[in-house]
Amino acid sequence: MFLNQEIIRKKRDGGVLSAQEIEFFVRGITTGGVTEGQIAALAMAVFFNDMNMDERVAFTLAMRDSGQVMEWRSMNLPGPVVDKHSTGGVGDVVSLMLGPMIAACGGFVPMISGRGLGHTGGTLDKFDSIPGYCTVPDPELFRTVVKDIGVAIIGQTAQLAPADKRFYSIRDTTATVESVAMITGSILSKKLSAGLDALVMDVKVGTGAFMPSYDKSVELAESIVSVGNGAGTRTSAILTEMNESLGPVAGNALEVRLAMDYLTGRSRPARLHEVTMALCAEMLILGGLAGTDTEARAKLQAALDSGEATERFSRMVAALGGPSDLVERPDAYLEKAPIVVEVPALQSGYASATDCRGLGLAVVSLGGGRRRPEDPIDFAVGLTGLAELGDEIAVGQPLAMVHARTLAGAQQAVREVQAAYQIGASRAQANPIIYRTIRP
Ligand code: URA
Repeated sequence: MFLNQEIIRKKRDGGVLSAQEIEFFVRGITTGGVTEGQIAALAMAVFFNDMNMDERVAFTLAMRDSGQVMEWRSMNLPGPVVDKHSTGGVGDVVSLMLGPMIAACGGFVPMISGRGLGHTGGTLDKFDSIPGYCTVPDPELFRTVVKDIGVAIIGQTAQLAPADKRFYSIRDTTATVESVAMITGSILSKKLSAGLDALVMDVKVGTGAFMPSYDKSVELAESIVSVGNGAGTRTSAILTEMNESLGPVAGNALEVRLAMDYLTGRSRPARLHEVTMALCAEMLILGGLAGTDTEARAKLQAALDSGEATERFSRMVAALGGPSDLVERPDAYLEKAPIVVEVPALQSGYASATDCRGLGLAVVSLGGGRRRPEDPIDFAVGLTGLAELGDEIAVGQPLAMVHARTLAGAQQAVREVQAAYQIGASRAQANPIIYRTIRP
């Protein structure tokens, strides 16, 4: 039997908590056995005194086990259960293609996705822009879709890692979010509750990234890889570029269109392709579906070229209640914004830097994201044709197209996008797209 205040005191004084102490405290988060003040106090103690890797593993497992943990073994799936998670970005539509691509290569992807947070887009919001698509299916339907099609992308349910929900909301209001130990536990507890054999983490680097510096992104990636593997799930992390929008499009229904164009081959923007292939290849290797990067990429390319990945996407959409001909007739289903205007460049030169967070916030102010958690989303709005870093630009040439609901909204977004781009006199050296892969 432990006392909450003694656990807090030990961490406050720089001690190392045992797995039993952590389990006791986390159980109290869900049962109500610890008060809000005690949770806040422990969060602050961890913020200052950190947790070692053993503590992080115990913390992650206790939060994962605070709710339902999915199990797939009894279904005898003929392939590994694998997933990807990203720390969040702008124009990052990877999940929509990655799930079907992995399914087409023999993996099973039970992806529990999230809503947009701050300036970042959310996979769940993108799927919500498809009429009829149910992001909160009953658990049996979710399992059946994963089994039959190989991929189902849905939203977080209240049954998964409920301790994190309470803990995170208290961290959010007590200035204790920015702790690598607690971020690791928070992300992994939710992801691992899907019962994964393997997980690839996409940790973003740059002006649109959640982590504030390259070194912090590396620290988080290393922590997630250590703790994920320590918790029994094969885990790697890839550090990827987020100093500009990953794809040329940001906004929910617009990104769904881009994902379908990517799958069918109508449009496959280079940076988006590179990140998608790198993450997918790592997933195939971790899941034992490919021996080498070359083999993995060949399988993925074949899944795209044969149309099998598109087929999986279409079947998933239909199985979860969306239209079966979404890929063939997107205009019949995906909402379009009534106002589309250019964002003229204010000077000539080369796109030398973007405030990627600012671009994400321009989408939010158009209504494509939320200012408050309960806000509705306007799925139609967003940005397309975003100029890339290094592009040569003349005065008046478009930096992007704004898709808006109102003229005032369009004008505001034009100003925000103009402010987000720096135009320099010479072409800056290109950033890497993949910075580093971290394996156990
Ligand atoms: N996202 C999460 O899910 N948890 C954190 O702690 C931070 C970002």
